[in-house]
Amino acid sequence: MKVLLANPRCYCAGVQRAVRIVELAIERFGKPVYVRKEIVHNRFVVNRLEEIGAVFVEENSEVPAGEVVIFSAHGVAPVVFDEANGRSLKVIDATCPLVNKVHQEAARYVEQGYHILLIGRAGHEEVNGTLGHAAGNITLIEDIDQARTKEIGAYQKLMVLTQTTLSLDDTEEIVTALRERFGSVDQPPGKDICYATQNRQDAVKEMCSRGIDLLLVVGSPNSSNAARLTEVGRVRKVRGFLIDNETDLNPGWFAGVQTVGVTGGASTPEEVVDKVIERLRDFGATDVEICQTAEENTVFRLPDELTRDELVSGG
Ligand code: SF4
Repeated sequence: MKVLLANPRCYCAGVQRAVRIVELAIERFGKPVYVRKEIVHNRFVVNRLEEIGAVFVEENSEVPAGEVVIFSAHGVAPVVFDEANGRSLKVIDATCPLVNKVHQEAARYVEQGYHILLIGRAGHEEVNGTLGHAAGNITLIEDIDQARTKEIGAYQKLMVLTQTTLSLDDTEEIVTALRERFGSVDQPPGKDICYATQNRQDAVKEMCSRGIDLLLVVGSPNSSNAARLTEVGRVRKVRGFLIDNETDLNPGWFAGVQTVGVTGGASTPEEVVDKVIERLRDFGATDVEICQTAEENTVFRLPDELTRDELVSGG
């Protein structure tokens, strides 16, 4: 059995930055450091950070007054900053700059008189943040059925924004359905689905076109971008599984498989994928070939309160 290993895969620049923020905050302020929500949607990462002194909470109200709290890579609504200020918490914002871009777009276009149509998944933290930036002038569209039928008031100007980690194929269909329904809808000049999501999906598409019999996406079940990678395979009729780590591998999946495609979502550490590849050798994997579809060199600056000159890179 051959392994085709996607590249780009695993950590993006936004996740790399968020994880580094927690590590640096623990070094700088001592433990515990509180983190509101999972810093990124990966169980392995959260467990490791807990071991070195991070305490994950659901809400600001669980953080003792005056302590450091880190907001996750998925961003928050403005009201969450207000709550933190109200409790005199020291906020370090690990929101990915590309999520922040969408949040700022929502606020700016509402100011310009638009009603926002947000394509995304209800309950996802990034979506909650975007909803919160739009001051009520926003309707969430979760799928093509909602694009066709969800009740939307009569607005003169409609702007479509999207969650950063969606399937490019699905999103295009939904935007087309919105255009068919409303005639003209605007979109920002740059796309909202981020470079890392696009690159990881493109790599899976390439692996599918090269003829893999099975797709393994390494990532936690609550990771949006990892779940979408599995869907990219499914749409192309490739059997696929989302696995958290090597212990989820099932020997029954490999009967008759000649080539297995492997990738990791943007919040998955490389070392977890390495362990999956090692385990695949027990199921008959011999060669590992890289399927390279893009180079990544995006870098995001860390917050000034942690360091003035350290940069991290992803990809
Ligand atoms: Fe940022 Fe994209 Fe990574 Fe999300 S997946 S953290 S938006 S770079």
